[in-house]
Amino acid sequence: MPQDMTTLANPDSALEPLTILRQTFGYSSFRGLQSEVVDQICAGGHALVVMPTGSGKSLCYQIPAIARPGTAIVVSPLIALMQDQVAALQELDVRAAALNSAQPPDESREALQALHEGRLDMLYVAPERLMMDSFLQMLKSRRLALFAIDEAHCISEWGHDFRPEYRRLGVLAELFPEIPRVALTATADAPTRQDIVTRLSLQEGRIFLGGFDRPNIRYGVQPKSSGRRQLLDFIKAQGREAGIVYCLSRARTEETAVWLRGEGISALPYHAGMPAETRARHQERFLKEPGLVIAATIAFGMGIDKPDVRFVAHLDPPRSLESYYQETGRAGRDGLPAETLLLFGLQDIAQHRRMIEESNAPAERKRLEHRKLDALLGYAETTRCRRQVLLEYFGDSGEPCGNCDTCLSPPKSFDGTIAAQKALSAVYRSGQRYGSAHIIDLLLGRGTEKIQAAGHDRLPTFGVGAEFSASAWRSILRQLVSLGLLEIDLAGYGSLRLTEKSRPVLRGETQVALRQEIGARRKAGSAAAARGASAAHILKSPREQALFEALREKRLELARQANVPPYIIFHDATLVEMVKAPPKSHAELALIPGVGVSKLERYGDSFLEAITAFSFNDEGDSAG
Ligand code: ADP
Ligand code: ZN
Repeated sequence: MPQDMTTLANPDSALEPLTILRQTFGYSSFRGLQSEVVDQICAGGHALVVMPTGSGKSLCYQIPAIARPGTAIVVSPLIALMQDQVAALQELDVRAAALNSAQPPDESREALQALHEGRLDMLYVAPERLMMDSFLQMLKSRRLALFAIDEAHCISEWGHDFRPEYRRLGVLAELFPEIPRVALTATADAPTRQDIVTRLSLQEGRIFLGGFDRPNIRYGVQPKSSGRRQLLDFIKAQGREAGIVYCLSRARTEETAVWLRGEGISALPYHAGMPAETRARHQERFLKEPGLVIAATIAFGMGIDKPDVRFVAHLDPPRSLESYYQETGRAGRDGLPAETLLLFGLQDIAQHRRMIEESNAPAERKRLEHRKLDALLGYAETTRCRRQVLLEYFGDSGEPCGNCDTCLSPPKSFDGTIAAQKALSAVYRSGQRYGSAHIIDLLLGRGTEKIQAAGHDRLPTFGVGAEFSASAWRSILRQLVSLGLLEIDLAGYGSLRLTEKSRPVLRGETQVALRQEIGARRKAGSAAAARGASAAHILKSPREQALFEALREKRLELARQANVPPYIIFHDATLVEMVKAPPKSHAELALIPGVGVSKLERYGDSFLEAITAFSFNDEGDSAG
């Protein structure tokens, strides 16, 4: 018997968006642009939504998906993570399912069956699956609420994450002209945005731009000295929280994870060279176990929706500010404080330059990559607010933020003209063929074998820099590179050369302001970092922290029983609210953000009991 095409996927389709927000999701009001986007789509329009991570993009399509009759088709690039989103929705009693090649056949069958019977509000599919002709044909006979295209920047070759399978999504506009299309992404600069609009034919829709700032993320940069030790200090300052450590190579992710475990931190590697099954296992553990650290290449991350990643560290620098923004952006999606640390040195930059040169990209592309790396270097060496530099790169702006290392401990600058002249002339007189280590030996007057072999102990610059330490010179050379007064040779062997801009400095026509010695800055930086980002830190009293831990314990126990990640039960932000004003009844609990009808029913008693038990014990303790 043919399916009844008029079956409504959602019998309660008359529900108002605000009612859905409150009852299903447990939030009292819309945030930012959410309600405008929801209205646009509920009215049948198209939209491109560019809003930062953690700002609540999902609700922008999930609420219309529930409100509108029919099933919403959600395109999501990563199969592994669909499951997670679907699980979260099912916890809310939303009728969601996923369809992908990784699931057992009976699960796919069940999802298709539910689609046919009009029992689904949302169906998550991978783009390859959606684009199969038979699937598209089948969809034409279904009642559809909308198409949501998540991580929409993947459709654009201009973006940093192009995925060929996204290209064909353009046909949706031809096949389903009446169905609203909403594209969502967190990172898209102007050309990428234009490209998405064209490819998905969104010209008649609206563009919603939510700005790029992530105020809860604290940015911090340190020159790399003892990379691992710096990383360890940073991780320890976070308490036992979940975080990501980005490394440049596969081998380094493995070594780093082993080393961290040796230091008592539970850590696992993740990179594209690992067997798929191991990768999936590590990712799952990251989602489900509290306080796990993943040492990963950039293969790890896209679509990682874990809201309570408390820190992101770069043991090696990323290729560009765009990647940096994207990678650090995986911290603190829940809006609670999150920390970042970027470690970098000139050798790393040289290595990136070499990788660019050795790739077989066309010359134009290579020039662009070098420029992107320059911008990153400028960010790392800036004496301004880091957030301002980052936002300006995306065409956004803001005041000094008060939540980055330069705002928190402003670097002091000094007149570095003479130091710069000494360094530039050491580079020039040694033939512009040496890297920073050799130049520093030369400045400090160290008669190493290499110095003697080259006869550099006879140069007039030999030993003229004794007033600074080697690490101070490293800092000065880095700053000269970022100011464009020195350049690292393009082939990337790390040798330093003069530039156009060096000459006026050497002739004494230009002054150079440099940032104070790094030693002092590093101390200040780690003092700032010592705040840590754990949610427990925003709860001031030990008593509140203890209650928070007790609620987390309860959550973990429930999560294990249900075999879901803890945050699917409640986010940390919700637990924090329970701690600040402990609810005593279902009615009070229902007022807490993140507690909707289904979760109240499912978990309300457990959490209320945990709160009562805690107060009881606590009073007992203080009495005795
Ligand atoms: P994005 O996809 O933009 O990165 P999410 O959709 O994952 O962000 O939402 C980030 C967090 O904010 C989630 O914990 C979500 O439940 C929460 N959130 C979204 N909208 C609201 C709202 N209106 N009020 C309170 N919290 C919200
Ligand atoms: Zn700042």
